[in-house]
Formats: sequence, C-alpha cells, structure tokens
Amino acid sequence: MNPFNYKRRPTVSVNVGGIAMGSEWPVRVQSMTNTATDDVEASAAQCQRIAFAGADYVRLTAQGVKQANSIGDISKVLRGQGCTIPLIADIHFNPQAALAAAAVCEGVRINPGNFVDPARTFKQLEYTDEEYTAELGRIREALLPFIAICREHHTAVRLGVNHGSLSDRIMSRYGNTAAGMVESVMEFLRVFVEEKFLDVVISMKASNVVVMVEAVRRLVDAMDREDMHFPLHLGVTEAGFGEDGRVKSAVGIGALMAEGLGDTIRVSLSEEPELEIPVARKLVDYISQREGHPTIEGDYCEGYDPLCPDRRSTITVDGLIGGNQQPVVIASYRPDQLDGAALQPDFYYSADGLIDGTHRFMVPFAAWKGERNVYPLLTLGEWDRCSTTRLRFLQVPASTPVHRLEFLRGRSDTVLVITPVGKNIPAEQQAMIHALDTAGINCPVIVRNTYADNSNEWLQVKAGADLGAVLLNRRADGVWLEAPNTYSSAEVVRYAFAILQAARQRISKTEFISCPGCGRTMFDLQTTVQRVQQATAHLTHLKIGVMGCIVNGPGEMADADYGYVGAAAGRISLYKGKQCVEMNIPEADAIDRLVALIKQHGDWRDP
Ligand code: SF4
Repeated sequence: MNPFNYKRRPTVSVNVGGIAMGSEWPVRVQSMTNTATDDVEASAAQCQRIAFAGADYVRLTAQGVKQANSIGDISKVLRGQGCTIPLIADIHFNPQAALAAAAVCEGVRINPGNFVDPARTFKQLEYTDEEYTAELGRIREALLPFIAICREHHTAVRLGVNHGSLSDRIMSRYGNTAAGMVESVMEFLRVFVEEKFLDVVISMKASNVVVMVEAVRRLVDAMDREDMHFPLHLGVTEAGFGEDGRVKSAVGIGALMAEGLGDTIRVSLSEEPELEIPVARKLVDYISQREGHPTIEGDYCEGYDPLCPDRRSTITVDGLIGGNQQPVVIASYRPDQLDGAALQPDFYYSADGLIDGTHRFMVPFAAWKGERNVYPLLTLGEWDRCSTTRLRFLQVPASTPVHRLEFLRGRSDTVLVITPVGKNIPAEQQAMIHALDTAGINCPVIVRNTYADNSNEWLQVKAGADLGAVLLNRRADGVWLEAPNTYSSAEVVRYAFAILQAARQRISKTEFISCPGCGRTMFDLQTTVQRVQQATAHLTHLKIGVMGCIVNGPGEMADADYGYVGAAAGRISLYKGKQCVEMNIPEADAIDRLVALIKQHGDWRDP
C-alpha cells in the first residue's frame, strides 16, 4: 500500500474463464444481473448487454441448486450467441448451490459469513475455545468438496465478505468490525492455502466507505503477514443510484486503487447493471494513468496509522477551520448559478472581488479591503504584506518545499490551500501534508482541485477518487472543488458535499443505503428507492436502507437506522436498526408505515 506512488500490489494471477486477473493484468470490471436467474432468456439478454457495455465478468445470483443449474443454461445460450463473458454464481446460505454452480460456471462467489453458518441468530454470543475450534473444523469439512469440484472444473472462487453479514462466531470475538471481516475471510483462506487451491479472489464490502476501506487495508496487512497474495475485488455495497452512487463508489474504490489495491472492481448502482460499466471503466482509466508517474517524494509522518488514520491534528483558525471543526466546502462564486441551490458552501471564492453581503467570501489579496466575512487569498510573496490577524488563506502548489513554509509553525491565522501540479493529485497533496506534519507545521489544509471535464460522470469519478482519498485519510480540513467549464456552482457544491458525506466527514443529507438488486429482488428497486427518498430525503440525520430481499438485505444494510426490505412479492418488512418491527406488510402501505415508524421513534422532522 503506497499512497504516494502508484504501483499495483503484486498478486498471483487467477484465471476466470480465460480472463485472468491479478497485478499482471489490467484491472477487470464487472457487474451483476438483476433478472430472475430462472428466467434464462431474460438473464442471457442482460448478460449480453453487460458484456456489450464492456464488462470482463458478469455475476448472477443462485439462491439454490435450480438457479445454479440455470446459469449453466444461460451459459449455453450465451456461448451459442458467441458471447464468451465468464459467468460467476453468487451464493449465500447454500453450499449445495455452490457445488452445483462450481460445475457449470467460470467462478463462484461464496460468503464466509453464511457459507457454513446459518443466518445470524445473535443467540450464541459466547464461544469457548473448543466450540470455536469445532466450528473451524466444520468450515473445513464443508469447503473440501467445494474445492474439489472447483479444482476439477477450473472454477475460480471469490470469497466475498460483507460488513453486516458476519457469523455469530466472528461477531462473538470481533464484533461487527473491519477486523471481524478480515478474520472471517482468513479462516477460509487458510483452508484454501492448505489445500493448495489458489484460484481465489477476495472482496471486503460495506456500504460504509470508511469501514470498507479499513477492512481491505487490514486484509492486505493480514495476508502479507501470512505470505498470501490473492487478488482483490473492490466495491462499495448499496452505494445507491445517480450521482450519490457514483460518488460513493469513486471515493471508496478510488482511494484503495490509488494505493495500488484492486484487481477487479464493481460499481454497485441501483440502476440497470450495464450502466455500472462506464463508471467502473472511467475509474480504472483515471487511476491507471498514474502508472509511470514521476516519483513523488513522500513519507508518512510519525504516528500515522495507514490502516485506520486518525484525523490530522491542526490549529483551529478563527473558530472556522481546522481543529475539531467539520471540513469546510469552498466553491467559486457565480451569482447567476446559485438559484435553487439546497446547499451553500462555507466560503465562496470571488476572483473579481464581487461579494453579496450574505455569504462568507474569499477574494484575491489585490481585491481584499478588510470587509467583515471577507478573507484574503494570498500567494507566498503576499503573505507578510497582509495585516489581518484573523483568517487568511495561503495558496501554494503541492511541489512547494516545506522549509519555505516554516514561518507558519505555531501560527493560528493561516489556512493553507494546496493545489496539484501533476497527474497523481491525491498523492502529491498527501505527501506535502505529511511533510508539514513532520516539520511540526499544523495549520489546517484545504485541497483545491480543478477539473476541465465536460461530463458529470467524469467529474464525479475524478473528484470522488481524488478528494475522497485525502478525506478518507483524514488529512484535509476542507475541499475546494472547481469545474468551471460545464457545471453550475450549485452542482459543484452538491458534489463536494456528496464526497464529504461518502467519506463520512460531514453529513448533509439523508444517507440512503440501497442495494443494486439481483435475481432475489422483491420489488421494482429504482421506483421504490425514489419513493422512499421522496418521503424521507429531508431527514438528514438518518441512514435509511432500501434492500431488495430479506435474505441478505438486513445484514447488508449494516448500520442503517431504518430499513425497508423486500420480504416477498408485494410484501415489505420494516426494520428499526437490526430489529424487524413490521413483517410482511402490503407494499402499497409500506412508505406510510415507514414514516409512522420513524415518527413513533421520535426521529421524524417536518420538511
Ligand atoms: S439485498 Fe439486494 S442485491 Fe443483495 S441479495 Fe438481496 S436483492 Fe440481491
């Protein structure tokens, strides 16, 4: 893991139906069908669309042996049509389905949280060492026939752990933590290694980006310690749809890819699966450009934990930025584009010195007259000509030698704005911030990134990946996002807040955790998510899960405050936290009942 210089983490190669993955190969992209796997014709057609969109692999859910065999039929249809995309079966709770799938698919995903263990009961919370060891023996027993079939058919395996679907055994020792996710997969990996079956890929997913990133980093650390070099599949589960889904995936996947991690990725969106592929491709293309970048001199500052960093310790300037203040948002002021903006930045930057008297402003030093709530943006040459003792912004490129900033040590009036100079934007910004800390300069830092793109999706991907990496490592006290060519100020501000929210640094809207849907989904996911959003989007203090099925939904929505979960066709179950409080209610009543439930628990606020 190296955040300063992009280099893929070395892994073994894993062959999935002739499309190999690992550090020797390009980062592969994939998606998952949301048709009923029993519906061979519809599923084959959707696989074709996903393949046509440019995916390297496609995954299909197999609830049981019947659906596993259907994947074999889908494969025959596709091969007959000349489509060779490898098919991967997705298995939960059903080892028999895994055995059947291993004989007909190019890959099988199993979930260590439920391959052997039943759904969590939360009944057995204490395990003696003997009980724990006996359970590990059961895992081995269940895995051996599966490994044998995979070996016979050259079928690759993904061990896919999800935050929120850990077994009682893991929960008893580790809780619902990143460390628990790691141990959950390591138990399985040790069996695969002992059996010398190495066509294994690992994923550690969570809807909470911070948990997902920590889990993957801890996994790499744990594998390194046991001399294991399996490729990684990256993804943020239940990322949602639209710009939020894209931003959330870009933040989580982008931050890890920036460290050289990830050999295949899936951007999970609650949309048609083929729409995931261009987003994933953009992410891969953008980060891969860093290959061969000139070396960036960077070292962690003392005390920095790269697996789970603490917030950088900075001085609070003027009670507004740094210290314990939540990270700020800065945006360019374009007064004709502010109409209807639901979110306002903390500071507008006005290049021509135009201000409106209602917002806080930053202006170039030449335009600064010392007005209330207006702060100067300085260059290094201007800094000591400025007389303010309250708050001033000093902008420097990331290539500035830190010894030139030593005069800032101990000062409580200056916020640094770091602009990038090369292509590896988060690397050079983080290298400079670590160097500041090593030199004992603890003024707050804003990272200022400007993108010249003309597509929303590109901006979401690039800004999410770049700003997200710095924010997830908790190195910045604010972000300044600019995209002057195409976007309105209101859109850019919205993206900046979405990135902060994805990195869990600043919550500005209701967090919707919606699954991407698959063959198990019990309702029309896209319209349902929209209806739930319409009813609850003003409850910015809540996390609300919208999950397609009762099998995985409750586990996978992990830390949602309330959950709307497909229980059966036309039936919904509602959750308060992890507790199912209304079971099998008619879908037509479910939104009203969700609102009533939120009110009953005192969490409702009028719009
Ligand atoms: S929660 Fe959604 S994506 Fe996950 S298994 Fe259920 S329906 Fe499929």
